[in-house]
Amino acid sequence: MTTATAKLTGEVVRAGDPGYEAARIGWNRLYPRYPEAIVFCNDAQDVVNAVEWARREGIALRARSGRHSLDGWSSLDGGLVIDVSRMKCVEIDETARTVRVGTGLVQREAVAALGERGFVISTGSEGGVGLGGVIPGGGFGLLTRLLGMACDALIAAEIVVADGPHSAKVVEANEHHNSDLLWAWRGGGGGNFGIATSYTLKLHELSEVQFLIAKWDGHGDLGAVLRNWQRDAPVADERLSSALDSDSTHFELTALMHGGSRQELEDELGSLLAIGTPEVTLMRGFWPDLYANADRAPDLPFWKFYSQFVKRPFPDKAFDLIVHYMANTPTATSGFFCSSFGGAVRHEPPGGSAFAHRDALFYCEPGAAWDDAALHAKAVGWAADFWRALRPFGDGAYINVANAPAADWERDYYGSNRERLRQVKATYDPENVFSFEQSIPPAAG
Ligand SMILES: Cc1cc2nc3c(=O)[nH]c(=O)nc-3n(C[C@H](O)[C@H](O)[C@H](O)COP(=O)(O)OP(=O)(O)OC[C@H]3O[C@@H](n4cnc5c(N)ncnc54)[C@H](O)[C@@H]3O)c2cc1C
Repeated sequence: MTTATAKLTGEVVRAGDPGYEAARIGWNRLYPRYPEAIVFCNDAQDVVNAVEWARREGIALRARSGRHSLDGWSSLDGGLVIDVSRMKCVEIDETARTVRVGTGLVQREAVAALGERGFVISTGSEGGVGLGGVIPGGGFGLLTRLLGMACDALIAAEIVVADGPHSAKVVEANEHHNSDLLWAWRGGGGGNFGIATSYTLKLHELSEVQFLIAKWDGHGDLGAVLRNWQRDAPVADERLSSALDSDSTHFELTALMHGGSRQELEDELGSLLAIGTPEVTLMRGFWPDLYANADRAPDLPFWKFYSQFVKRPFPDKAFDLIVHYMANTPTATSGFFCSSFGGAVRHEPPGGSAFAHRDALFYCEPGAAWDDAALHAKAVGWAADFWRALRPFGDGAYINVANAPAADWERDYYGSNRERLRQVKATYDPENVFSFEQSIPPAAG
């Protein structure tokens, strides 16, 4: 699939065109980028043409799906953005219990389309996040302790990779072909090795779920709830995943049990709900309906998150720090988020994965959100200080919520998988065509 004279195909929007602003803008406005052009691809051949065009023109490129990169890494100044968001096929094989999806699908679309046919996959919580970017980094949410990481369901991927000095080609990564690339795509992070145009995912049957939201006013009970949650959530019934989310005025627990009864859910959460006087809402239904109606991140332009996996229980000092930072948020919407691990995350999918945090008890994330550019320094500073204060108590970080200032970021994201990821990079992208601020470097010689 190479062309003698590379041409951009698909819809091309260049700087100065009327649609440029809408085409370039990312979800997080904190990092505005001004590419030379954005190409909206319709199929894998458009992606091949775009990569070849950029290589022959000698300009940098980035892959983009759902535009939710928190650090603006799916775009760049002056280069080419290769956007796959129009590639939204959904082909379900009910007998094999698999689906082939276009990487342009966002989580909300995937959950809805699969739910209609009685299936479910593990995804993150935010409907607008693209499968293209979330799956290669890992992907976790409220089905993770039952089904594993989103990337664990990935059994094959169609990927456009660099080929020779100027070209590009489509490869299939599966258990038999390019299995090292499939391994790397399960947790090695988007943007590193090529551009995925479709994913084939293993499906799970949909069951009724029990869903609970408990809200506590203020932060008076935050330390006690966190302490109990850290003890119970990682070892709970595998059907149960939960998250704690706090803003400046309150905090809440969301918990989902896939299958099971209301009584089982309440029994699992009994010791948490006995703390203080939370307002508790219980729902029963099917996950796709609840997912479609769940609260989303507020519609704000500016965001700064940091990530941390926690593999040894937090000591009291860490909880005191969290309560302290939550009493001093820069804006009402800034907060602290934790999501339970354990359960199915502990098991590697057949063929293994580059996701390096299977032994995490939980994930946590200080995050600032604001709408006034005058608050940039205050909000960014608070999030960075909060992250630095908690770092001594964590082990590792999440490439999908990058810690841009971290010195040893490869070790934080990939642990002992770092060397193998560099080898995979050297095999598929020795010339480092797919590079960004924290991309994996190819192994030397
Ligand atoms: C509000 C919000 C909530 C979130 N909640 C969760 C959560 O609950 N769980 C969770 O796991 N994560 C969560 N995340 C993080 C999310 O997983 C990442 O932001 C993810 O990388 C976004 O993917 P995208 O396709 O939308 O973004 P993009 O900006 O399009 O891409 C993100 C990265 O992936 C690369 N990429 C995109 N498409 C491709 C492709 N087709 N082939 C190769 N590389 C590609 C890009 O180059 C870039 O490096 C959240 C993020 C936000 C902003």
